[in-house]
Amino acid sequence: MVVLKPLIEELKSFEQCGIHIEKFNLDLPIKLAFVIGDNLSVSELLGFKQTFGPYFICRYCKARYDQIKKKDVHVKELHLNYTISDEVLGTEIEKITSNKQYKSPYGIMFPSPFLKLDINIFQISPPDIFHDLIEGPLSNICQIILKKANYSKIVIDRRMSAIKWVNCKINISANFHLNGKAIQKFEYFNRMIEIFPEWIDNPPEIFQFYHIVRRIMYILYDETQNCGSMELSELIEEFYRFMEKYDLVTPKSHFLTHYSLLMDFYGNLCKFSTMCFERKHRLLKVLIRHSKNFMNVTYSLSFLHQAKMACCDQETDKLTTECCSHNIVRFIMKKDTTSNYEFMKVEKIHNIENKIMIFGDKYITSNTNLTYIKKVIAIEKNVAVDVNDICHTNIYEEKNKK
Ligand SMILES: [Zn+2]
Repeated sequence: MVVLKPLIEELKSFEQCGIHIEKFNLDLPIKLAFVIGDNLSVSELLGFKQTFGPYFICRYCKARYDQIKKKDVHVKELHLNYTISDEVLGTEIEKITSNKQYKSPYGIMFPSPFLKLDINIFQISPPDIFHDLIEGPLSNICQIILKKANYSKIVIDRRMSAIKWVNCKINISANFHLNGKAIQKFEYFNRMIEIFPEWIDNPPEIFQFYHIVRRIMYILYDETQNCGSMELSELIEEFYRFMEKYDLVTPKSHFLTHYSLLMDFYGNLCKFSTMCFERKHRLLKVLIRHSKNFMNVTYSLSFLHQAKMACCDQETDKLTTECCSHNIVRFIMKKDTTSNYEFMKVEKIHNIENKIMIFGDKYITSNTNLTYIKKVIAIEKNVAVDVNDICHTNIYEEKNKK
């Protein structure tokens, strides 16, 4: 609540006043559209019971854990909670605040601070394919497919080594568990057919399961699909039967059973996937870990992030493999002929005569021919640059610099 207070206040003032764009003399109304994230944090933000406990698990349909675990008991609701009106929600919140013993059938635990805004907590949060599928059951699905397909670990490893992987080769443990980043699992699953091309003419029994998950994934990631379909519902139903058969049913696989209906409401779901935000989050974690500076985390992060973005823009292709996993300082100091990085450490941003100017120190790195010093960094103090003249606009003003 305390942490969210400034955010909620700002959103509220946006809701009331919008923003005025001087250049076009335009008043733009602003409203919070969606809250997306992993299931636990969305529950926490919106005041729902967190979903991986033994009882309440689904904010879409009120299902309990025992209901989804019981075979043949499919929780099929045609009216998901997003149809609940603001009035019903209001009454429910009233009951929760007035009676501490009251247990909400919708899994509401406390009035979310977001209720101060003009939103309906049942509608504001679309599902996230990334957490529900890619980071969720996909790893177990690959494991069961590899086990049932009956190849030895040596054969799988040899075949995997023959493939040029976009996101590096993933590591597979002795019991066929995938150890790696979600994006590697995603690539691995989709390219299994390249590892086992014989499946096309001579599919093993488990191929049916692979085929279903792949088709579901193709529908979900197809940007032209703007609503649910009979095909998707049927595929997901078959998928769920396989999940039960191999004892893989989890809350996340249950959420998938609502996807066709949820697509009718939210449209295409892949635009809500948190994959790119998770990648950014990972980059920030790597940066702060490498900085070894925890005295002023926001300051260190803002500086390192600016430097990283500036360098990435100057060396685009190497961004994903190298930039992310290397210490930014070491990256800048690396001696090679091409990389003379320049970046701004932004202190202030001002609008001067309709130009957005950024003020700060300019860092210029250049190679040397000296034996022990690979590079030098020159700092030009108090430089002003037009924001249009720098290659990255991801600038950050550090207000509370000590
Ligand atoms: Zn449900």
